Amino acid sequence: MKYDLHCHSYYSDGTLSPTQLLEHAKEREITHLALTDHDTLDGLAEAQKAANELDIHLINGIELSCTWEKQLLHVVGLNVDPNNAGLQKGVKLNKQRRIDRAEAMFEDFEKHGIFLRESVTQQIEDRGVPTRPHFAQALVEAGYAKDKKQAFKRYLVRGKPGFIPMVWAGLDDIGEWVTGAGGIAVLAHPNRYKFTRTKLSRLINEMIPHGITGLEVSTSTTDKQQSKMLGDLAIEFGLNASIGSDFHSPDQPWARLGCAHELSKELTPVWAQF
Ligand code: AMP
Ligand code: MN
Ligand code: MN
Ligand code: MN
Repeated sequence: MKYDLHCHSYYSDGTLSPTQLLEHAKEREITHLALTDHDTLDGLAEAQKAANELDIHLINGIELSCTWEKQLLHVVGLNVDPNNAGLQKGVKLNKQRRIDRAEAMFEDFEKHGIFLRESVTQQIEDRGVPTRPHFAQALVEAGYAKDKKQAFKRYLVRGKPGFIPMVWAGLDDIGEWVTGAGGIAVLAHPNRYKFTRTKLSRLINEMIPHGITGLEVSTSTTDKQQSKMLGDLAIEFGLNASIGSDFHSPDQPWARLGCAHELSKELTPVWAQF
C-alpha cells in the first residue's frame, strides 16, 4: 500500500485535471490518494470517477486556509463527506474570501500599473478557485518575474504589491467543519511555518480541543530530522500521523506525487481512523 494524502488538481493551484492526477497516481503506484485542493471540494466527483476506473482508493479531502494568531496555517481535512451541509457552508465562506481577495489583488496591482485580470481569469476558467500561484504565473507571463519563485519574492507577500492581509477561518470553525463532515483534520506541513518547537506545541495544544487531531509528519519538504521531531510530537500529543507530497504539477521535481518517505512504525497513521 502506498499513501499520498495531500495533493492538488486544477480546481485549485495544481496543473492536472483530477482524471490526469489519478492517472499520474497509477503510474506512481499509489494505492490511496487524497485530493486536497485549496478551499474547494469541486474536483472530488471527477476524481472519484477516475479512481473507480483505475482501482485507486480515493480519500475525499480539502486543504483549508486558517488564521491563527494572525498567521496563515493550512489544515487538511481527510475522509470528509463532501455532501455534508456544514462543511459545504464553511467551504463556501473560504471560497468567497478567495474571490474577494483576488478582486482586491487585481486592484492593488492595477495601482502599480500591472494588469493581471485577463491572465488569471483565463487560467482558472470557470472552474478553479483563485490562488496566489495563479497570480505568480500571470506575473511571469507578463514579464514581471522570471519564474514563480521570483514572483513570490517581488510580489504577493507582505510589504510587496499584490499582498492583501487576510483573516481566514479559525481553528474552531475548521475543526467543526471537518469533524462535522466525519473527517479527520490534520495540520498541514508544520515545518513550513518556521515555528519553534515551543510555539508548535502551543498550537497543537490549542487545536486539539477543536478536533484537529492530525499532524503531517512526512511531506516533500521534511528532512529526516524534521520528520523525527514531528513524529515525536505526534506521539507526545497522541496525534494521528499523516503523509503527503503536496504535489501540484509534474514540473516540480521537488514535490513528486508519492515522494514523501514512509511513516515510522511507532506512529499511528491517520488512515487508522478512516
Ligand atoms: P494562497 O493559498 O492562494 O495564498 O496560495 C498559497 C499557495 O501558494 C501555497 O499552497 C503554495 O502552493 C504557493 N506558494 C506559497 N509561497 C510560495 C513560494 N514562495 N513559491 C512558490 N509557491 C508558493
Ligand atoms: Mn498550493
Ligand atoms: Mn499548504
Ligand atoms: Mn497543499
